[in-house]
Amino acid sequence: MNKTYYSKLIFELSRPGRVGYSLPKNEFEGYSLVQLGATQSRQTKTLLPECDELTVVRHYTNMSNNNFGVDTGFYPLGSCTMKYNPKLNEELCQLPGFNIHPMTPAKYAQGSLKLYDEVQKTLAEIAGLSRFTLNPYAGAHGELTGLMVIRQYHMSRGDVARTKIIVPDSAHGTNPASAAVCGLQIVEVKSLADGTVDVEALKPLLGPDIAGMMMTNPNTLGLFETKIPEIARLVHECGGLMYYDGANLNPMLGVCRPGDMGFDVMHINLHKTFSTPHGGGGPGSGPVGVRKGLEEFLPNPKPLSNSPEGEGLYLRCEESSLGYISFFLGNFGIIIRAYAYLLSLGKENIPMAGKLSVLNANYIKESLRSHYELPIDTVCKHEFVFDGLREEYGGDHHSPEHVTTLDVAKRLLDYGFHAPTIYFPLLFHEALMIEPTETESKETLDDFIAVMKKIAEEAKADPQLLKTAPHDTPVRRMDDVKAVKEPKFTFKAL
Ligand SMILES: *Cc1c(COP(=O)(O)O)cnc(C)c1O
Repeated sequence: MNKTYYSKLIFELSRPGRVGYSLPKNEFEGYSLVQLGATQSRQTKTLLPECDELTVVRHYTNMSNNNFGVDTGFYPLGSCTMKYNPKLNEELCQLPGFNIHPMTPAKYAQGSLKLYDEVQKTLAEIAGLSRFTLNPYAGAHGELTGLMVIRQYHMSRGDVARTKIIVPDSAHGTNPASAAVCGLQIVEVKSLADGTVDVEALKPLLGPDIAGMMMTNPNTLGLFETKIPEIARLVHECGGLMYYDGANLNPMLGVCRPGDMGFDVMHINLHKTFSTPHGGGGPGSGPVGVRKGLEEFLPNPKPLSNSPEGEGLYLRCEESSLGYISFFLGNFGIIIRAYAYLLSLGKENIPMAGKLSVLNANYIKESLRSHYELPIDTVCKHEFVFDGLREEYGGDHHSPEHVTTLDVAKRLLDYGFHAPTIYFPLLFHEALMIEPTETESKETLDDFIAVMKKIAEEAKADPQLLKTAPHDTPVRRMDDVKAVKEPKFTFKAL
């Protein structure tokens, strides 16, 4: 099934003088009000492609067919929640009433402000916290905002010595990065062999210089951190706050709440859990929630009610806030999508999303453990990690001939699946991290399981087949280093 690859550049399709538009006659021709000087005018003609409309339509349609996305096939990328995003939400976020200028006076923007407030309140209920800001632009941005809340809280009490933050070794890379950007010093705490945080290793790290601790739950191995109540008690006793990385809240939806576990501050990725297409670096949203007593530190501006200006919601800036972290109210289109998603599922169905994502992950894990190495054998949440092929299929991990996780990932492409996350988390050599999400049918999961077993059999019978994969994709195995170090972005005119 060798897919053809469309590789033309629009400049190659260009023909001098060909146009795809018609404009009314310029009535002001010759009435130039301002003459640009020689230094401001370009000396050469702009290189723009000249094409007719149909050529442009075909070019971009063909190019879009090169894409692989959730809408074209199974995308089990761990730690990413590549679930299906209902098309209705795309339509709703484009309703003309929401297309308003950010400086619109509040009394004319009540609909948008009310939507913000309802999403804020719903997230607070889902998380078991008091209040959310929807202003941050991404998960990592939410982490930074949440850590700034923690710092602002300590500073407000004159507790200025708390400059360190505890981060588990299994954390997503953004955790230590956000902490560093926030000016905090990172103290790493080790994980036990079962993948959860080592409480005994945590105890000696606690003291009057600790601002708090960041935890991801389910953690990066897809495991529920069962010792959270004890950890939260220890951190609180030493005066620190608990931060919850809720980027992957999907499996917890409607099942359990970070606020009830003892967390004080958290972020959620709307673009993972609450239905916004992502993965291509597009706009995201990382709302941050806080427990009672920390609301005043959330970033400005805040839509607040009971204003002296009258009924409704108004944008307020509070003195005690950590300040601005974004323009206005964040990526508003994503907040609208989240609202549409929350309302379509409703309170009764939200827990189903979480539970089904867990069921699907465990179904794949149990179906494939005969062929792939399962380093941590327990019930997982929305995702789990294999440590490459089992020895009887892939050979000894330490031998240079063994069939690697990279080979398996490349071979999957031949069968029309997106590869799972590979070589992350760093705790295992041949990590293969699979997250199916709740939106996949049993048939899709079964197809994937059958292909993964077939690949294991191929690895045993004909390792070279995997080592030279992919075979049927438009481009074969790429030089990853060269692609990063010497990318070619420019077209040289002939
Ligand atoms: C995705 C993710 C993040 C970062 O979110 P971005 O929106 O990509 O910045 C942080 N933590 C975890 C656990 C994640 O999975």
